[in-house]
Amino acid sequence: MAAAEKTYCRQVQTPDSSDTQQRLCLSMPKQAEYIIKRLEANGFEAYVVGGCVRDSLLGRIPGDWDITTQASPQEVKAIFGRTVDTGIAHGTVTVMRGNEAYEVTTYRIDGEYEDGRHPKNVSFTSCLEEDLMRRDFTINAMAYSQRTGLIDIFEGEQDLKEKRIRCVGNPYDRFKEDALRILRALRFSAQLGFAVDPGTREALRSLAPNLGCVSKERIQTELTKLLLSDNPDYIRMVFEDGLAPWISENFGQIKRDRIQVSKSIPARAPLRWAAVLRYETEETARNVLKELKMDNDTIARVKILVHWWKRAIGSDEKEIRKTMSEMPEDAYDDLLAMKQSCQDIPESPKELETISRLTELIRRRGDCISLKTLAVTGNDLIEQGMKPGKTIGKALGILLDTVLEDPENNKKEKLLAQLYHKGCL
Ligand code: ATP
Ligand code: MG
Repeated sequence: MAAAEKTYCRQVQTPDSSDTQQRLCLSMPKQAEYIIKRLEANGFEAYVVGGCVRDSLLGRIPGDWDITTQASPQEVKAIFGRTVDTGIAHGTVTVMRGNEAYEVTTYRIDGEYEDGRHPKNVSFTSCLEEDLMRRDFTINAMAYSQRTGLIDIFEGEQDLKEKRIRCVGNPYDRFKEDALRILRALRFSAQLGFAVDPGTREALRSLAPNLGCVSKERIQTELTKLLLSDNPDYIRMVFEDGLAPWISENFGQIKRDRIQVSKSIPARAPLRWAAVLRYETEETARNVLKELKMDNDTIARVKILVHWWKRAIGSDEKEIRKTMSEMPEDAYDDLLAMKQSCQDIPESPKELETISRLTELIRRRGDCISLKTLAVTGNDLIEQGMKPGKTIGKALGILLDTVLEDPENNKKEKLLAQLYHKGCL
């Protein structure tokens, strides 16, 4: 693609000295600025675009700085020394600057979408406006460079001011092209505390069945981002707007009435998902997450929380040690954190305080709560003449129980003597 000398996009104007004063000035990382300047020096337009512009205008720190340019991927590669072909078919080249990586994507028009999933093809364009038009929401469709200032064709800045998520163009068309945008609308709404514009909301409600075409991983990523946001309770919109049955079969079965995900629950995936699934059985919780391709570690943690949140930990040291022994240390901490932020649990706030205090004491004292620190090992029992196999496991279990009752029992002689008296040795 040749570097277009003039741009034919409506609002893109070369700055004139009279408006420089009022023009908004975003501070971007030095390296992003360098990449843009370098592309411009080679005759190509280039801008930071999307999430970083939105976040900068909101005074939030952007996660990454994406660059959009008129230069073709080959031209980008020719200009910069160190590049990686990250998504060259879609026009994305990663430019390395020191340790930093910047995704530089050629202005693009997304072709027709195949069954609401992927564009059949993408074609490059030399017009920034066309690239901005393919983006999902007005607040994500702004570009900025020091040369031009803010390029805001779809009134994204106004929507930011009015705290509104609104599709670029006709929301029905946009959700039909890519149904993931339905969940992205709710996710951004939760992350930013914005309302979904009525037109956009109506469209997402009526096109909910299109979610059936979206990959489960992508759905899960959006729902997890929503749950980890400052407004995890917005997950209710997924139910209120009739999206749940189209998320997945198991998700559609979740009991919606009691869902409450308080933002006081620490923003970690197992905790927030457990809050959504807590009234379900462990089996259902597992099935929901498995279907959404959640990783096994998170599923295991959610299962522990779903099992335990409604059960009393117990309020004396013995019972607390027993509960602690049933799960990994950090899962136990998550359980306490979850109980501290839920209301419908067996413990009163006072009891929870006692449990926290005693937990700390047990840890500080280094009480044995697992086979790892039991004074007798499997090898000790073999040395005592026991046959390797299940009986050893059983015997160690009995000894751990005694030690959980009273940590003073965690002495090799004492424990072996006990087995001897029981006739196990
Ligand atoms: P985050 O802070 O979560 O990364 P983001 O706005 O950067 O937010 P990304 O998913 O990284 O979101 O996408 C970058 C940009 O690409 C978006 O701002 C938007 O302009 C565009 N975009 C991403 N996904 C879509 C989509 N499904 N449909 C249309 N445009 C999209
Ligand atoms: Mg991003």
